[in-house]
Amino acid sequence: MNHMTSHERRLTKIVCTLGPACSSDAQLLELAQAGMNVARINVSHGARKDHTALLESIRTLNEKHGFCIASLIDTRGAEIRTGDVQDPIQIAKGEEVLFAPTTLLNLKTDKKIIHVGYDGFSSDVKETNMILLDNGEIAFEIISINSDGSVIGRAQQEGAIGSRRHINLPGADIDLPSITEKDWGDIAFAADFGVDFVALSFIRNAGEVQEVRTLLQKKKSDMQIITKVENQKAVENLSELVEASDGLMVARGDLGAEVPFEHLPVIQDDIVYRCRDAGKPVIVATHMLESMTQHPIPTRAEVTDVAHAATEFTDATMLSGETASGRHPSLAVSAMDRILRATESHLSRFPSDEQMAIHGDSDARAHSAVSLARSSQAEAIVVVTSTGQAAKRVSKFRPPVPIVTLTNNASVQRKIQILYGIYPIVIEFSQQEETVVRGLEAAKGASLLTAGQRVVVISDIQTKKDPVTSIQMRTVE
Ligand code: PEP
Repeated sequence: MNHMTSHERRLTKIVCTLGPACSSDAQLLELAQAGMNVARINVSHGARKDHTALLESIRTLNEKHGFCIASLIDTRGAEIRTGDVQDPIQIAKGEEVLFAPTTLLNLKTDKKIIHVGYDGFSSDVKETNMILLDNGEIAFEIISINSDGSVIGRAQQEGAIGSRRHINLPGADIDLPSITEKDWGDIAFAADFGVDFVALSFIRNAGEVQEVRTLLQKKKSDMQIITKVENQKAVENLSELVEASDGLMVARGDLGAEVPFEHLPVIQDDIVYRCRDAGKPVIVATHMLESMTQHPIPTRAEVTDVAHAATEFTDATMLSGETASGRHPSLAVSAMDRILRATESHLSRFPSDEQMAIHGDSDARAHSAVSLARSSQAEAIVVVTSTGQAAKRVSKFRPPVPIVTLTNNASVQRKIQILYGIYPIVIEFSQQEETVVRGLEAAKGASLLTAGQRVVVISDIQTKKDPVTSIQMRTVE
């Protein structure tokens, strides 16, 4: 059989969640070498000092080894969790248990008690017919909602409930602010540290995103906002969320518990398509290679899931527990890398029949450059941009070749790293032609281009009056 060869350069990016399984410098280096493009720190876990140490390690990794790994802080958001227990509470199928706010003292009951850290629990429960633990691992049918604020639920499956387990109330619009005091503190910390992205959990509408935007503007921070779509309200408000955010994450863990899981694939496709249309980055997250937390190879269904994300041209795919706490962090990154490359290589053999809408002149120019690259079989598109915008527009049209992006700003370099196909490098800018020549040299130095390759270049050229943007076909010297 004639095996397909893989793409030399992977175009879909990989986000890795950091945690105890990969926090040493040596382990982080392994992840970077295996293909990590963005490092995610979920501040639901660990203390501020651990987060700071990880962010500093990423900085050092970039400085010492020349990587361009962007950083992402993921907030906890308004989530409901069970209380702390010494030993997991064993639950039998059909058993009735009492959910009670931690503030409810002297409970007289013969049932096992599951504490919830939130007083409004029983009124939110009225809006659902199910209490789900651990993203749906154990479901409880609601038997009664009591006047003292406790709730009796009957287990649909057996299971064990450890400390601080996540609770979902599918469809309920819970009565907590989406952005909590802790989140505001974490967002301010991330902005002050110079983190590249903040991912906001359990967002419901664009107003909430706008509140964060206002804080960032006040702080003069260029941190980008990724909104996590993980509940019914966010799905309903998708258009305004795409508009208000810098990018979206399909947070399938919570989303799959908040909406019937059979709707997930359709919602994922919708979110990816809308972000692509807007030219904003989209991340497909959670359970992508879940079995690799334990096993050195993925299941066939997981391979196909990652391949599906590549087939629909998502910007990035994400690893969670696989890298944060799994047994094989770097093997999981390599597996994802291999699946993405193999799928991209297969896709590149077909002409693209997809057509994203063209919104405005910069889209029109980017579209022409991508079309020229395809028809001239160029091996890369080279974009000169100080803000990253021109490269973003090119990425929107998903060229089958790398987008070598020359910028004069290291923060922009990391922020465009999450986008499909972009290989960003920092150079000094001077007169336009000089900048292009310097950029092509730098790209050769970074082994992104070699002499003799044909490329399409987007850069400014000087006319008698103002500079204008040009699209050129060139051969690398
Ligand atoms: C998710 O729910 O899919 C997700 C990415 O969020 P978290 O990992 O914070 O639960």
